[in-house]
Amino acid sequence: MDSFGPGPRPRVAVSSCLLGAPVRYNGGHSRYRFLTDELDRHVDWVPVCPEAEIGLGVPRETLRLERTGAGTRVVASRSGADHTDDLRAVADRHLARLRDADGYVLKNKSPSCGLFALPVFAGGQRVDGRGRGAFAERLVELLPLLPVEEQGRLTDPGLREHFVERVFAHARLRALLAPGWRPRDLVAFHARHKVQLMAHSPDGYREAGRIVADAGARPRAEVAADYAASFQRTLGLVATPGRHVNALQHLFGMVSPHLDATRRHDVLDAIERYRTGRVPLSVPVALIRHHCAGERVEWACAQTYLDPYPDDLRLRNTVPAPA
Ligand code: SF4
Repeated sequence: MDSFGPGPRPRVAVSSCLLGAPVRYNGGHSRYRFLTDELDRHVDWVPVCPEAEIGLGVPRETLRLERTGAGTRVVASRSGADHTDDLRAVADRHLARLRDADGYVLKNKSPSCGLFALPVFAGGQRVDGRGRGAFAERLVELLPLLPVEEQGRLTDPGLREHFVERVFAHARLRALLAPGWRPRDLVAFHARHKVQLMAHSPDGYREAGRIVADAGARPRAEVAADYAASFQRTLGLVATPGRHVNALQHLFGMVSPHLDATRRHDVLDAIERYRTGRVPLSVPVALIRHHCAGERVEWACAQTYLDPYPDDLRLRNTVPAPA
């Protein structure tokens, strides 16, 4: 028996320039190799360039965030033209497509696509560094539960792993909640995600479980919306090394009755070496997955925690600080 695999292929929206499209103000691009050379094998892209969509050509004058009496606006730096409302409207126009997306990677430092810490100007002077691009701001207003990340932050191994994990989980959830889903499918889905959810928040796992328990007694649409919100909120919390240790011990508890003393010792040793920051998470996970498959421990094999995204992304190979 093998584990179930990470599930359906996600659809990921992305700032077009990150895939290499020459749409930047100067006719260049911002190709990001993690997306084009690694993630590309496993997802379908939905590229969007808000500035191109509102008719700004290439090349074009640069834009910047400007603090005005009407709030923070996106203005062209030479002509002073205000593009804020048009850029926000692009997010509204794409809403139907983006509801079917499992994540969004935005270009950082862009007054249209940037999500965090953009410089804001007033009267030619920089007044603060807390701005957000107009398109990005509207996007997160419309879809607050969509996994969204900036390309600049994806260089951090922990943030990269967390984002990709959420994207693949979102795709599984979207597949589950397709028209005609049944409460018993939701029960099975929640059971498969038990360890993964617990690694992020035991309270979140229990909250989602209460929604599952009532699923047969409430309108489907309400259950789907409540479960999706609870599931995404829980996975949005950071899985600490300590919580990973708890998750590994939980899985060890399932497989240990099938193992002899030597193999039990090996698994516990791998968990301890992960806990003390000597090996990456991939080491105890691979060992437990191997034993679960070899001993045909079905419940454990089905846990998405053991297979949250494709292995070849190598996202669990960084050694964390000790738990
Ligand atoms: S950052 Fe956004 S608006 Fe700017 S070129 Fe890239 S996709 Fe287009």
